[in-house]
Amino acid sequence: MAKKQYAVIGMGRFGFSVANALSEMGFDVLAIDSDEQRTQAVSNIVTHAVSADSTDEEALRALGIRNFDVVVVAIGEDIQSSILTTLILKDIGVGTIIVKAQNELHGKVLNKIGADKVIYPERDMGMRVAHHLTSPNILDYIEISDDYSIVEMKASQDMVGKNLKELDVRARFGCNVMAIKRGNKMNISPYADDRLEDGDILVIVGEKRDLTKLELAYPK
Ligand code: ATP
Repeated sequence: MAKKQYAVIGMGRFGFSVANALSEMGFDVLAIDSDEQRTQAVSNIVTHAVSADSTDEEALRALGIRNFDVVVVAIGEDIQSSILTTLILKDIGVGTIIVKAQNELHGKVLNKIGADKVIYPERDMGMRVAHHLTSPNILDYIEISDDYSIVEMKASQDMVGKNLKELDVRARFGCNVMAIKRGNKMNISPYADDRLEDGDILVIVGEKRDLTKLELAYPK
């Protein structure tokens, strides 16, 4: 299978970081920014770096943007340019368009005009940090809808030695343990009598308020 081709538009801190990470993973990346200095700064990191205004449809077509599998729009502050760029990419027929939103309203518009995925890096990272701060066992927190999330939680001292039936997070908190990570192994269909060991990581899905109750019940 051919390697996926990525383009990232907007080389602010977020766009730069996405482009850099993709490049380090060995993917071909086209970086686009209207500011020459910004494209210059990324030019020896990515496959191609081009100065262009992404609200100029002809410029995007000339770059062959249609041939990219995924285009990430990382224009934050200039919401109008972000929306216009997304519209143009949609019109050109790019397969997958991922857009960084500055706020909820911006995100709503992006969803309406057909962005395949809208991301809120600051909001999501803030939420993760907050959950980790209030409950150090929480390693990751991923919002999957307005009401539901997935948490990665280190087995707390109170959990170690117990099996899932004894923990009974389903009845007590209305949450489900989807998987247990142990070292490099991932048990994706844990049984009721699977016993937790020190260092295990539980992947739990549930309603946000139920997950918060669960987090608070196992503070250490
Ligand atoms: P950060 O990711 O650093 O938090 P941000 O999301 O606020 O920042 P900006 O600082 O606005 O992003 O950076 C977005 C980048 O997008 C800038 O480098 C800017 O030059 C670039 N940019 C803005 N409008 C366009 C456009 N129409 N075409 C191409 N690049 C653009």
